[in-house]
Amino acid sequence: MNSSTALRIVQILILVTLVIPIAFVSLSSTDPSGITLYISALLGYAGLGLLIWMFIIGSRSVSHFISRDQIAINKLHQFLGKYGVLLIFLHPLFVVLSYGESAFYSLVPDVSTEFQQHVTMGRIALYILLVIWFSSAILRDKISYRPWRYLHYIAYASLPFALLHAPGVGSTYISSSIAKIYVYTIVVVLVGVLLLRVREWFNLNSYRYTLVSRKEITPRTHLLHMKPANEKLNPKKGQFVYLRQTFFGEQHPFSVLHHDDNGDLYVAFRQFGKYTDKLSRVRPGASLNITGPYGVFTKEIEDVSNIVFIAGGIGITPFLHHILSAGKNDKPLLFFSNPAPSSAPFLDKLRKALGDRIIELYRDKPPRSRGEVGFISEDTIKKYVKKPDEHTYFLCGPPNMIDAAREALVNMHVDVDKIHTEEFRL
Ligand SMILES: Cc1cc2nc3c(=O)[nH]c(=O)nc-3n(C[C@H](O)[C@H](O)[C@H](O)COP(=O)(O)OP(=O)(O)OC[C@H]3O[C@@H](n4cnc5c(N)ncnc54)[C@H](O)[C@@H]3O)c2cc1C
Repeated sequence: MNSSTALRIVQILILVTLVIPIAFVSLSSTDPSGITLYISALLGYAGLGLLIWMFIIGSRSVSHFISRDQIAINKLHQFLGKYGVLLIFLHPLFVVLSYGESAFYSLVPDVSTEFQQHVTMGRIALYILLVIWFSSAILRDKISYRPWRYLHYIAYASLPFALLHAPGVGSTYISSSIAKIYVYTIVVVLVGVLLLRVREWFNLNSYRYTLVSRKEITPRTHLLHMKPANEKLNPKKGQFVYLRQTFFGEQHPFSVLHHDDNGDLYVAFRQFGKYTDKLSRVRPGASLNITGPYGVFTKEIEDVSNIVFIAGGIGITPFLHHILSAGKNDKPLLFFSNPAPSSAPFLDKLRKALGDRIIELYRDKPPRSRGEVGFISEDTIKKYVKKPDEHTYFLCGPPNMIDAAREALVNMHVDVDKIHTEEFRL
């Protein structure tokens, strides 16, 4: 089954999860209070359903059974989180309306009765989600990636509280066996996903590689050559892997430059922050845990002709193997943007392989260098691509370069289906 069919099936299953509560949430009365309570219960179950799915597909050890398209999975994960939280926020608002309580009813903890203890479980879930919402919607651009990422993991802690809350406050749960089956199924699924996550934390789904060499190929850009300790990965051109330097350490994605018949793997990375700084000091003999391969970028290449790659700096990595292995009459056109030739990774190899089919773009005109000065633009593309709408484009690099290139191509009436992009962030 291909990735997009599997994703469609998951989307249908998500819809089914949202619809099932209609079968067991009952309308206690048709007065306004009964109707708002009914709506609040449906919103609560729908929000919970979306968050459960967010948790399920947010785990790579689960999502890779569904699709290798990590970018599409990530978009779905973000969508589920966003709308799941929104529905959960609406749930207590409707409860307050129904009970005629003050707006603080859903926020102030109360453990005076067993019913209130269950409501308080829901309040705790709400506090957690408020923190996540605040950090994602208000603070996302003000805090750096790492604290935001760790904060957003707390969202998962809201699930057990929400699950403990629902049965204790809902009268339908007590009388409906469908409701019980629904909640128990969720618990079983969550335990299963948690076990798969534990497997991932302990590297039980990863491949062990040993570093053969690390070389600084241009300032702050390094090439890693790794050898499999036993089993080897078999990535396709353009795919990426997650690399873990220490047993419980962070995992970061890197495109595979190339892998050979022995399973040796080559990755190039640019030093950006904490993780890549540490990776730039890794020594030969070091053991690395690798998971993957992931991604579907450049999968269309076999089916299309007139290929144009647009790469910025280290964004050349998903294209390198395609370029170096292309036949004489099959050479793609490459626009390669860098601050200066000295910072352009693999420049000699690319010039040799592509001849006049590489267009170099630099911040300032370098001495004796061919190419263009400035960023990628409509004018530059038009100068080298005679009929732009007859080509298929693959873009990889910094977000502002991708945006500028995409805008230029769309202005030149290139069909959006012919523009494929990979951003180096998820
Ligand atoms: C599909 C894909 C392929 C990539 N291929 C390459 C490659 O071939 N070579 C290369 O140099 N870089 C590649 N990257 C980028 C690389 O993963 C980041 O530069 C690296 O993770 C930065 O971590 P840091 O701690 O050094 O920097 P930080 O300053 O902490 O992070 C810089 C930015 O990188 C992104 N990032 C950080 N951690 C992660 C993470 N765990 N998962 C996803 N994104 C993260 C965030 O957008 C963050 O703002 C790729 C990224 C993706 C998503």
